[in-house]
Amino acid sequence: MCWVYSRAPGGLLLLALLLLNSGCGAQPVDEWEKEPVYWNDQARRTLQTALTLPLRAHRAKNTILFLGDGMGVSTVSAARILRGQMEGRSGEETVLAMDTFPYVALSKTYSVDKQVADSASTATAYHCGVKANAKTVGLSAKAVAYECNTTFGNEVFSVLHRAKSQGKSVGIVTTTRVQHASPAAAYAHSVSRSWYSDADVPSAARREGCSDIATQLVTNTDIDVILGGGRMYMTPKGTPDPEYPTSSSRKGDRKDKRNLIDIWLNARKGRNAQYVWNREQLNAVDVKTTDCLMGLFEPKDMRFEVFRNRTRDPSIVDMTEKAIQILSKNPKGFFLFVEGGRIDHGHHDGVAKLALTETIMFDRAIQRASELTSESDTLTVVTADHSHVFTFGGNTPRGNPIFGLAPKKAEDSLPYTSILYANGPGYGHVNGTRGNVSAVDYFDEEYMQQAAVPLESETHGGEDVAIYAKGPMAHLFHGVKEQNYVAHAMAYAACLEPYTNCPLRLHDSGGCRNTLSALLSALTAGFWLVAR
Ligand SMILES: [Zn+2]
Repeated sequence: MCWVYSRAPGGLLLLALLLLNSGCGAQPVDEWEKEPVYWNDQARRTLQTALTLPLRAHRAKNTILFLGDGMGVSTVSAARILRGQMEGRSGEETVLAMDTFPYVALSKTYSVDKQVADSASTATAYHCGVKANAKTVGLSAKAVAYECNTTFGNEVFSVLHRAKSQGKSVGIVTTTRVQHASPAAAYAHSVSRSWYSDADVPSAARREGCSDIATQLVTNTDIDVILGGGRMYMTPKGTPDPEYPTSSSRKGDRKDKRNLIDIWLNARKGRNAQYVWNREQLNAVDVKTTDCLMGLFEPKDMRFEVFRNRTRDPSIVDMTEKAIQILSKNPKGFFLFVEGGRIDHGHHDGVAKLALTETIMFDRAIQRASELTSESDTLTVVTADHSHVFTFGGNTPRGNPIFGLAPKKAEDSLPYTSILYANGPGYGHVNGTRGNVSAVDYFDEEYMQQAAVPLESETHGGEDVAIYAKGPMAHLFHGVKEQNYVAHAMAYAACLEPYTNCPLRLHDSGGCRNTLSALLSALTAGFWLVAR
């Protein structure tokens, strides 16, 4: 059964109920779309918005960087259609939260050593403003992967780190482990992205003074809010996991027997710090009386959204909301990094439904952040680190289910799904013949779309990804840019190192009202510092 909304003249919504025998088939094209007036009106409204778009050329108090790991443009388009179809529409006309951002640029994602980059080198680029080598985080390309002695002297520092130095509150939210490459480049400097705990660091590297990413999470930058997965890298070897107490593979992993959660809490005594590990505890956190929050909700990565335990595991929306509520108490503003980290994992598995449902939740987090902040003082940037070899096509009609078949059979007389991967685990030839997709449920949550080339894990793609921006100085994001520009534009907008000749604050144009408001905000800042 499908609910179909059709737009009638005058903007009224007519609700039509369609009964279909076998789930949701292709949705009919809205009759109203056949009228030129529909498209002319729609474009005229869009033009009006473009003509009256305010230029926000003042300093950003707050900055939020949303990073969809592996969220190429094809992933965004397919997720948009999926969301619309889940809401009973044809799908293509759906407007995602990120679609409403007024400024868009393209980001060139290659790294210093790779044409098709990984999440570590790209994270160094958009966090720290410097392109780097694959596998390394928070280090310039002078550092060589896995060679510990190339770490020292080659450290580069993130916008998050620079924001903290200026007295802003800072946070990271991710659906992966918090020690994963994308968040790690915000606080760590490591020649290996996979040195999650000290047990992962070779003894020679440890002797040379290299430390694991989890240790750096609690000893480098003072991060106020840390939410995601990754409990097992924080506790001594053999520590039972609170959620899976009998599981031996999810026990604590640290050889140095340190409990990094306790170390983090002890370093914040008197600063209203809390640690939580499930959704109930997160919901119970009183943002008024909490200034520092660590929430680790799985031993490794968090679960895919479709498999999330809704009572135990918070969603990316829950985490983003709590982070903003805590960080926004600082009158000097905040920097928040939010990663939809498992879009990438769904694609690597060759399972588009996992990747696309992650993308939809990621977009909901963007929506929630927009509701909790103001475009007048908060710069919000949405981008991806790299793309994937994911595509959809095949002359499908309007409203074709995004996971459905192309209308005609292929040259081998077999049907094919619109979504396909160029490589990956979905390759399946039997006696030289491509598998017949009609024999399987290609709407299943774990259905692997077919791939042209067999690989255990589907690969990243090398084409540009989009950058969407709104808020103060968002217009700096336009044209085709190198990925490391993201960090520079954010630093400039918020007046962070190395930029001192940066935009004025919103009310810095003089006058007594501004003097009064400056006095008030100084008083609030003083009170806030004392209260902490
Ligand atoms: Zn990946």
